[in-house]
Amino acid sequence: MSPSGPPAVLRPPASLGVIGGGQLGRMFLQAAQRMGYRAGVLSASDDAPAAQVAHWSVVAPSDHLPALRAFADRAEAVTVEFENVSAPALRWLARRRPVRPGWRTVWVSQNRIREKSFLTRHRIPHAPWHLVRTGDDLEAAVEAVGLPLILKTASSGYDGKGQVRVDRARDATAAWSSLGHVACVAEGWVDFQAEVSVVVARGRDGQAVTYPVGQNRHDRHILDSTVMPAAVGPIIAQEARRLALTVSQALGTVGVLTVEFFLTAEGRLLINELAPRPHNSGHLTIEAAVSSQFEQQVRALCGLPLGMTNLVSPAAMVNVLGDLWTGGEPDWEAALRADPGVKLHLYGKRTPSTGRKMGHLTVLDPDPEAALARALAARAALKPRVARTRVVTGRG
Ligand code: AMP
Repeated sequence: MSPSGPPAVLRPPASLGVIGGGQLGRMFLQAAQRMGYRAGVLSASDDAPAAQVAHWSVVAPSDHLPALRAFADRAEAVTVEFENVSAPALRWLARRRPVRPGWRTVWVSQNRIREKSFLTRHRIPHAPWHLVRTGDDLEAAVEAVGLPLILKTASSGYDGKGQVRVDRARDATAAWSSLGHVACVAEGWVDFQAEVSVVVARGRDGQAVTYPVGQNRHDRHILDSTVMPAAVGPIIAQEARRLALTVSQALGTVGVLTVEFFLTAEGRLLINELAPRPHNSGHLTIEAAVSSQFEQQVRALCGLPLGMTNLVSPAAMVNVLGDLWTGGEPDWEAALRADPGVKLHLYGKRTPSTGRKMGHLTVLDPDPEAALARALAARAALKPRVARTRVVTGRG
């Protein structure tokens, strides 16, 4: 960075870099490339989904100093595709290049204790929780949040990993043991009628835009489908979008941030989780919104004006998990033939495994529930064609 700081706006064909080689990085790179940027990745593997489409790659773990140096040499501005990037590495990079979102947003959202402390401090509604670092904390947590509760490891949890539900006080110790006695949050069980999320993009000037609310359904703790707009009333929708803006402002985020909520049986919105990046529930914005969540990530990173978030049509997205390979390669043609409105996205992952996100399908339809029914029907049509691919179990 020059002593006068980074240029206010990075124009194409500047070189942008993303930390992380997964599908979110891939879709960021594709959006950047469409806008004329050169776009590369810091990835642990040269065959990762993002590395496959990158103009350039640095292959190394994200906290490897020589690799960070090589990355900073090539990337004029840096973003992330996952939250588990070491905060010191981001701080190191931020002294050399604009890093958006900044390390603080990433640092808060990569650890559930920091995330919940942040929400508590800012009086932003969330489920009751209690910190667990010792056996005494665990006892106090059962008292404080009641039963059932859900124990979640403070860090490294995703897609329901590192979580155990506790129904009886006498099971709490065993549940914590099964998580390796690491620092956890104990969260009160939320009786929710729906799970919804809001993707918010915030620029350097503090201007922010939100997408319509997405309604998410999970299967085995993994996102299964999203419908946008969610079937919630206008007051709930407005409140969810307002809360997402409040969070992005309180964090000072520059970039894209996703806020996941529970809508309780009584109609209250409680924040479940923050992700400092585009989110699986926003993938349908690629086709369904004027500007996709990935394009907003590019715009915010480069200091460009943010794009419109309006939907061109209601839409639904269903995930395509590795489980679909159990009997062989899924029959892509069958799904596309059955419904020409189906949009297929595959991430280029070579090894399908149970629960692994391999791709997704999006359908636009004036009726959001019809969009979901069509997307689900297309996925059902993906019955395997040839029984030859081996599915590895147990890899996320
Ligand atoms: P998380 O990784 O925290 O988003 O949790 C994954 C999924 O587990 C959520 O999307 C919910 O379906 C479920 N879940 C997590 N926390 C709770 C809770 N406190 N009460 C009820 N269900 C929960």
